[in-house]
Amino acid sequence: MLRQKVITRQTVTRRILIIEDTPTIARVQKHIAQKVGYEADIAGSLAEAKKLVEEHSYFCSVVDFILPDAPKGEAIPFTIASDIPTIVMTGNLDETTRNIVEKHPIIDYITKENKQAYQYLEKQLARLPRNEQVQVLVVDDSAATRHHICNLLTRHKYQTIEAVDGVDALKVLAENPKISVIITDNEMPNMNGDELCVEIRRLYSNDEKAIIGISALDTLHLSTRFLKSGADDYLRKPFNNEEFYCRLSQNVDMLENIKTIRLQANTDYLTKLPNRRYFFGEANSHLKAAKLAENSVSLAMIDIDHFKSINDNYGHDAGDEVLKGLSQCMAKYFKNNLVGRFGGEEFAVYFADQDRHESLQRLEKFRLFVEKHSPEFSKDRIKFTLSIGFHNGPIYSLDELIKQADLKLYQAKESGRNKLIS
Ligand code: GH3
Ligand code: MG
Ligand code: MG
Ligand code: MG
Repeated sequence: MLRQKVITRQTVTRRILIIEDTPTIARVQKHIAQKVGYEADIAGSLAEAKKLVEEHSYFCSVVDFILPDAPKGEAIPFTIASDIPTIVMTGNLDETTRNIVEKHPIIDYITKENKQAYQYLEKQLARLPRNEQVQVLVVDDSAATRHHICNLLTRHKYQTIEAVDGVDALKVLAENPKISVIITDNEMPNMNGDELCVEIRRLYSNDEKAIIGISALDTLHLSTRFLKSGADDYLRKPFNNEEFYCRLSQNVDMLENIKTIRLQANTDYLTKLPNRRYFFGEANSHLKAAKLAENSVSLAMIDIDHFKSINDNYGHDAGDEVLKGLSQCMAKYFKNNLVGRFGGEEFAVYFADQDRHESLQRLEKFRLFVEKHSPEFSKDRIKFTLSIGFHNGPIYSLDELIKQADLKLYQAKESGRNKLIS
C-alpha cells in the first residue's frame, strides 16, 4: 500500500450518563464530557437515572457515590447491572467507601477533592472511545489468566485477541497487523515471554507495537530480562488493576503520540496531502521492488497554470483555498496512487502498478474535470487549469523519473498550457 494512512476519528456521538445531585458539579462534568465529544444527560438521583436508562443507551457513566436516594453507593451496582461502563466520583475515599467501590467492576474511581480530579476525568473520558480502536493481544498459557486480563481490557473498551504461547502469538500477530499492544506472560510452553519479545522486536519496532511483560515468578532479574528483550513495561502478578490500567494507557498514549508526530512529519500543513519527504520515501522503496521485477513505472508532474496571477488578483488566502480544494480533489481522484505536494502549486502522482494507458486516461480525465469544475474549489469561484507532464518507463531512479516528467511538463507549458503531455 503506497497511500499514506490518515488517522480518522469516528464522528458518532456517544451518550454519557452523569448521575450527580450537586448541580454545579454536574455542570462541570457535562462541560468536560461535551468538550471531548460526548452528548451528556444529567440525572440528579438514582430514580432519575433509572428513567433515563430506560429511554437511552449509554456509552459510559459518571456516578456520584452519595446520592439522596442512594447514600451508600447503590447507583454503582445499578449502572454496572445495566451494562454501562462506570466511573465513580466520590467526595472522600475512606476505607468503607473504597471497599464498596472496589467490589464492583468499574472503570475507575476519582476523588472530587481538587481541580486535577476533573482533568483526570477528562483524560479518562477521552480515552474510552479511543480504546475501542486499540487491539490488544493477550498471551498466556493459562486460560483463566487470559480470561481475567481480557475482562479488564474489555471493561475499558479495548479490543482483545488471545494467544496461548509465544509461537501462537507470532502467528496471531502476522494475521492481525492492527494489534498495537502485546501483554505477555513469561513462563509458557513452546516459547517464553522474553523469547517472544526478542522475536517481536526483530519484526516490529517500539514505535509500532508496545509490549508489557507479566509474570508470577518473583525474581527481580526477570523484569530486566523482559525489558532487555524489548518489552516496554513490566508487571508482576498478582497486579493491582489500577496499576495495570495506568501502565497500559501510558503505553497506548505513547504509540498514539508517535503516530501523530509521524503523520505530521509526513503531511503538508496546508493541503494535508503527503509532503515531498514522504513521497520520496514511499516512491523510492517501491522503485526498488519495481527494479527487481523489471516493471515499468509512471510518474506525473502536475502544475497549476498561471497560479501567480490567482494570488495577484484574488489574494494569497484565495490562492491557498484553491490549493486546498485541488488537493482534496486530487486525493480522491488518485486514491489508489501515491500523491504528494512538491511545493507551491506543483504536485506529483506516482503510479506503482498501473498500466501506462490507464494512468494517462485517469490523468486526462482529472485535467478535464479541473478545467470544468475548478470554480467550485473556492468562494471566489476562481477558474484555473492544469498542465501535466507524464513519463513511463523502466527508470528506477526517482530523480531521473521526475526529470523526465518535468521535461514533458515544460513542453505542456510552452505549447499553450492546460494539457497533458506524455
Ligand atoms: P505557470 O503557468 O508557468 O506554472 O505559472 P505560475 O504563475 O503558476 O508559476 P510560478 O512558478 O511563476 O508561480 C507560482 C506562484 O505560487 C508563486 C508563489 O508565490 C505561489 N505560491 C507558492 N506557494 C504558495 C502557497 O502555499 N500559497 C499561495 N497562495 N501561493 C503560493
Ligand atoms: Mg504461564
Ligand atoms: Mg504554475
Ligand atoms: Mg510552478
